[in-house]
Amino acid sequence: MEQIISAGLDQLGLTARVPKDAPARLAQYGQMLLEKNRMMNLTAIREPEGVARLHMLDCAALLKFCNFEGKTLVDVGTGAGFPGMVLKILVPSLKVTLLDSLAKRLNWLTEVCDALDGVDSITTFYGRAEEFALEKQGLRDSFDFVTARAVAELRVLCELCLPFVKVGGQFLAMKSTSSDQELEEAAHAVKLLGGRVTEVQDYQIPGTDITHRLIVIQKMAPTLKGYPRRWAKIQKEPL
Ligand code: SAM
Repeated sequence: MEQIISAGLDQLGLTARVPKDAPARLAQYGQMLLEKNRMMNLTAIREPEGVARLHMLDCAALLKFCNFEGKTLVDVGTGAGFPGMVLKILVPSLKVTLLDSLAKRLNWLTEVCDALDGVDSITTFYGRAEEFALEKQGLRDSFDFVTARAVAELRVLCELCLPFVKVGGQFLAMKSTSSDQELEEAAHAVKLLGGRVTEVQDYQIPGTDITHRLIVIQKMAPTLKGYPRRWAKIQKEPL
């Protein structure tokens, strides 16, 4: 895995921007993922090359488009740590919060962090994004970046994620290239929640013919009172 990741980072033009030991650390994380996956459902990808390319390099590609140095980021629906944990390993100065509604995945991610010698601690939030984003939690309009991969359709994601982004910050939605319709359908949600789509970047995952998409939504105004709504309402009546 280490070699594939190292070559892939090179292909993405990122080698000079990441710590020298990042490929080794990502490979160790990937190995831990494959081992734990035998006991706990963490990923459908079951072989090292797939983990290296479809998890590690897919998430690493975000660095091509954003500068995360010294910033704050919350990864909504992080699962086994994608993309939040990968970004933490690649950019040690990034302050990462991993949020998920499954506690055992977050507990495992804390173990991974402890095992990866030299990777600073991460913060984990166990619960639902739409509840953490309520006024009383004090987390609204406060992060430089919010990320999400494979969590929900874009208009739903906007309601879960945009409330966390500070004005001037960005929500980074990782999607497939067949997300044109999703993007169109999310236009109302983006506007209502104070965002504006500023970039749609397609990128190829090194060593594959797979192209994925990063949708960048910039926060232009604070989140309106009353959003996010309760999960039942979000699902029943997406914005
Ligand atoms: N982002 C990871 C990835 O790309 O591999 C995990 C994707 S997994 C398909 C979706 C994850 O989102 C699950 O771990 C689930 O528990 C979490 N999730 C779904 N809805 C959520 C919500 N409203 N708040 C917090 N976590 C949520």
